[in-house]
Amino acid sequence: MALIVQKFGGSSVADAAKIRNVANIITRTYDAGNDVVVVLSAQGDTTDDLIEKANEINPNGSKREMDVLLSTGEQISIALAAMCIEKMGYPVISLTGWQVGMETSSDYSRARIRKVEGSRIRKELDKHRIVLVAGFQGINRYGDITTLGRGGSDTTAVALAVALKADLCQIYTDVDGVYTADPRLVPTAKKLDAITYDEMLELASLGAQVLHNRSVELAKRYQIELEVLSSFTGNPGTIVKEVVKMEKTFISGVAQDKKIARVVLVGLEDVPGMAYRVFSLLAKAKINVDVILQSIGRNNTKDITFTIPEGSKDLCQQILEENQETLRYHSMNVSTDVAKVSIVGAGMAENTGIAAAMFEALYNNQINIHMISTSEIKVSVLIDKADSEKAMRAIHDKFFD
Ligand code: ADP
Ligand code: ASP
Ligand code: MG
Repeated sequence: MALIVQKFGGSSVADAAKIRNVANIITRTYDAGNDVVVVLSAQGDTTDDLIEKANEINPNGSKREMDVLLSTGEQISIALAAMCIEKMGYPVISLTGWQVGMETSSDYSRARIRKVEGSRIRKELDKHRIVLVAGFQGINRYGDITTLGRGGSDTTAVALAVALKADLCQIYTDVDGVYTADPRLVPTAKKLDAITYDEMLELASLGAQVLHNRSVELAKRYQIELEVLSSFTGNPGTIVKEVVKMEKTFISGVAQDKKIARVVLVGLEDVPGMAYRVFSLLAKAKINVDVILQSIGRNNTKDITFTIPEGSKDLCQQILEENQETLRYHSMNVSTDVAKVSIVGAGMAENTGIAAAMFEALYNNQINIHMISTSEIKVSVLIDKADSEKAMRAIHDKFFD
């Protein structure tokens, strides 16, 4: 007998028929003699719809209240799925984040899991119940509801797998596994049988939303193997683990991130400490700065360009405007018409010419590169948003065709 954690994403529970399908997968796992803990996401577009509803009432609603609102989506899913499983004649119980002791930091809308006090789940498993847990939500030290950031149900699942010492953690979604690029945008994308934690972490952080990046981080830290698979096809999925037999290609995937903004500060004084002053202001506001480019100083001035998440744009602009006098830059330009396209691969470090091949694919399609950043296992370029899908396909075909 094993303890299996299964997670089903929003599209897998979008309507009654899909909930029945998920209930069949769960009860089959239970019938095979396993303890089953299931994490569910909100149905279909529920989370987006709730955000829209909030914006109609107050576009600047507090993050605390947003979390109270958004966490309701997952609660609907667990209750409906529990009723479905009850009707099939199985013992089942649904539990919210606070009921399972999902303790998080207090950062509303992007809380981090600190501890899972799993005794309630264990008690229910001892009673041979199937346990359904609301994904994406937790509780902070003030006893308030928090959420883990968009796509966070994957992280709930891995955290439970860690806390309960599960034998297997399966992430069921609407595609057959992890592909070399988003299969909806790149029709020639290929499914990977396996991928390393490090590569998956990069892909997820660079925009491949098939897994929440923090779920991969947690899985790596505790060496929990993940299986990403479809709730609809029954095909074998992709295993995410520490070591993967090297395949012929040197890169494992292409990803895009369109939810970013580029900020240019023009005419900063060319003196020591300028970058420190700018980025410490942003760090204090917990704004994640990504690619940074600083121009060569000229006439005692320099420019600094950087990218941030699109959601941080207004706050970033406000902070920099408030500090224009002390930073003494000439002007600021903020644009969301950009996208970041990246290639990821552990084989990149030992193989020269990978970045050049990527740039060639872009050149062949007359796509202009604004910024470049590299690490041992990735190359990212900043380009016009309008070129993003074309760039993904061109780069993908260069490496995988
Ligand atoms: P869920 O609701 O199950 O959490 P998500 O929408 O969060 O599902 O993630 C699944 C989606 O991720 C797929 O439908 C696919 O469009 C997208 N995706 C992006 N990059 C990849 C990739 N490299 N491999 C597979 N899917 C990807
Ligand atoms: N429902 C949340 C979202 O849409 C969490 C998740 O689906 O993982 O982001
Ligand atoms: Mg998801």
